Amino acid sequence: MGDVKLEHVSKHYDDVTAVDDMNLEINDGEFICLVGPSGCGKSTTMEMIAGLTIPSEGKVFIGDREVTNLPPKDRGVAMVFQNIALFPHMDVYDNISFGLRLRNYDKEEIDRRVERASEIVQLGGMLERMPDEMSGGQRQRVAIARAIVRNPDVFLMDEPLANLDAKLRVHMRTELQRLHKELDTTIVYVTHDQAEAMTMSDRIAVIDSGQLQQIDPPLVCYNEPANLFVAGFIGSPSMNFLDGEITENGFVSTNIDVEFDPANVGVEVGRDVTMGIRPEDVYLVQNERQVANPTHRIEATTDVLEPMGDEIFVYLKLAEEAHADLEEASVAANDQLLMSVSPDSDIEEDRDVEVVLDRTRVHLFDTETGIALSHGIESTIQASGPADAEAESDD
Ligand code: ADP
Repeated sequence: MGDVKLEHVSKHYDDVTAVDDMNLEINDGEFICLVGPSGCGKSTTMEMIAGLTIPSEGKVFIGDREVTNLPPKDRGVAMVFQNIALFPHMDVYDNISFGLRLRNYDKEEIDRRVERASEIVQLGGMLERMPDEMSGGQRQRVAIARAIVRNPDVFLMDEPLANLDAKLRVHMRTELQRLHKELDTTIVYVTHDQAEAMTMSDRIAVIDSGQLQQIDPPLVCYNEPANLFVAGFIGSPSMNFLDGEITENGFVSTNIDVEFDPANVGVEVGRDVTMGIRPEDVYLVQNERQVANPTHRIEATTDVLEPMGDEIFVYLKLAEEAHADLEEASVAANDQLLMSVSPDSDIEEDRDVEVVLDRTRVHLFDTETGIALSHGIESTIQASGPADAEAESDD
């Protein structure tokens, strides 16, 4: 069985805590990506599952066995790394079968496994090629086949596509998804690339500073990020953030206000909050009708435009909101907002525009702790209608 469980696992190196009290449950057959910035502890977490690193604290389970102190060979795992270490003097067949030959499997069994694995990674006709006669992508497939022949319960992959060029990387992503479907085996995959994590995994484990921030399906991490870190890390370009505070009228900041009844969102008046909105949830006022529940119009000036082909990124400079109830000094001004518009838009640089935000896509976070307070504020406003009416009729 390929479930993997980390129970209160930490790893300290002198005064560096690489992994900090990690609790992780990976289901049998799941494709999980460990994702986070460089140095956040992804590889160390993976190495503790693999048995290459022993935790300072906590326990590791694979299936129903505790494996915390077992060597890698006794864990039923197979690893694929970023640096593909193929034996240069061996052909593809010998590279794939090396581990099996070392373990004295009989020739027929080795042939059978190599044939199946090489078919899965589509290297069937290349078993006699030498590594230097192959492309980077083909060599990486040999490395994956070498892992497949071991029939592991769990595949561990640490940035296996990092050294490939962009096009091949995208192609290999699809191959890995196909491989996962075909093998129906647990895959734990380390990457710093959130796009890779979003496209391949059943669930993403987002890690920062050695701590698990959120583990959820990709779209849940995208639409309902648990905190500011996940909100900023998942999605490219990143979510816009504006610091402000909660008043009787909702969120106010130097540059953007969003009206709502704080009681309906469950946030108390006076709290410092950070509002988040993704670039695709900011609309030019002429497209306002595409938004079911827009905010009031916000004045801005277009700054730099970045045409991407399928969309244009527009950097906006915001005008100051005119309101009296904000304690100016308490809120840092952020007059930048990134908007994405369709490529057929006739937008130009240095123009005065008005934009609206989709209220259902407005996120609120506690500024101090970073914890998410609310994702979308439309439903709570609408829900307040009938509830209020009921309360009134009760009177
Ligand atoms: P990631 O894979 O997310 O880039 P790592 O797990 O490699 O991060 O590293 C997490 C932290 O632990 C980093 O600060 C790194 O410098 C530190 N670290 C990792 N391995 C060692 C080691 N063998 N000795 C000392 N520090 C280490």
